[in-house]
Amino acid sequence: MRLVLLGAPGAGKGTLANLLKDTLKVAHISTGDILREEMKKNSALGRQAKAFIESGSLVPDEIVTQLVEKSLKTAHLKGGFMLDGFPRTRQQAEDLDIILDKIKQPIDAVLYLDSTLPVLIQRLTGRRICKSCGGVFHIKNRPPKKAGVCDLCGGELYQRADDNEETIKTRMDVYLTNTLPIVEYYKKKSKLEELDGDAEAEELQKQLLTTFNEKGIFN
Ligand code: AMP
Repeated sequence: MRLVLLGAPGAGKGTLANLLKDTLKVAHISTGDILREEMKKNSALGRQAKAFIESGSLVPDEIVTQLVEKSLKTAHLKGGFMLDGFPRTRQQAEDLDIILDKIKQPIDAVLYLDSTLPVLIQRLTGRRICKSCGGVFHIKNRPPKKAGVCDLCGGELYQRADDNEETIKTRMDVYLTNTLPIVEYYKKKSKLEELDGDAEAEELQKQLLTTFNEKGIFN
């Protein structure tokens, strides 16, 4: 199955992808995770991306699209993929169509998580991530059993540098200007599945698996 997860920062794309990836047996490709990994390694790409990410603006299209193209070349062989955080601009959406056309792997559905602003802000400001396995927690909604420690692997939890109020505001503006118009792009292509982005990821996971079963689009 080939899916795109679309939604504002904090809509729960990563959390949902983590819940779905084992059941669907697809690769989870998160451009944000790939870029943060490059920053951690202090690679040339990581150094290029750092200032954009820390200010809440977008990394240039060519850089991100190249990363995705490379990941997709291996991901599509494993039975599909879930793209999380890509595309984020109209240009990226068009380039993705060209890439997928070339490898004959069209998107099955675009899952659009539509959330309200207060929920997004509450989720982002309380979000904590595991340094080792990338597991996502929340100090109120999804607290780890022991504060600051990942339930999954015992790794240390941290707060993303761009999850502060000022950068969140920039990221929301960037989302409204650059990413929200893509919803219309996929609606016109009849690919869009609209979901309640304020709902808990576990609830969405249940609903989606039922829908996929009904539509017979498992695998
Ligand atoms: P995320 O983890 O998806 O919230 O992404 C974190 C940051 O990485 C974003 O605020 C951007 O700076 C950068 N980024 C991730 N995906 C993209 C993309 N598709 N296009 C441009 N920048 C991106």
